[in-house]
Amino acid sequence: MDKTLQLDIVTPDRIVLSEQVDYVSAHGAEGDFGILPGHVPLLAVLSTGILSYTVKGNRKNAFVSGGFAEVHGDRVTILAESSELADNIDLARAREALSRAEKRLEHQEENVNMERAKASLHRAVMRINIYNSR
Ligand code: ATP
Repeated sequence: MDKTLQLDIVTPDRIVLSEQVDYVSAHGAEGDFGILPGHVPLLAVLSTGILSYTVKGNRKNAFVSGGFAEVHGDRVTILAESSELADNIDLARAREALSRAEKRLEHQEENVNMERAKASLHRAVMRINIYNSR
């Protein structure tokens, strides 16, 4: 397949990836979807977790949090609150974030925002899984 997609993953503070890819697969809030060159225009909310893409047949993974995907022509733009490529995930940091979130959820103190603690736990678990699946 000759045609490729220009994939850009952007967060408020940096460009995480800008690369020609063959395929993108994402977990949307309303279901999983795959994008090949020639896809119809699309705007979708992404679930926090894994975003996969293929470069010359090699599958690669990234973590995205709080993201949107926009497909227009042969450009796929991911706008996320935070994102890291699998190789750039700091495993120790994710483990620490997981243990902080677990402690907050265990103690269930009144001043702890449970939804926030659960979201933090989910980000940490997803980062650990994505790091381990490299
Ligand atoms: P932490 O409590 O460790 O900050 P978090 O889930 O609250 O984790 P985010 O708000 O998603 O962190 O991200 C804040 C910034 O830190 C972003 O730039 C993100 O890419 C980076 N970041 C967070 N955790 C990691 C990690 N485990 N490895 C690499 N970068 C990380």
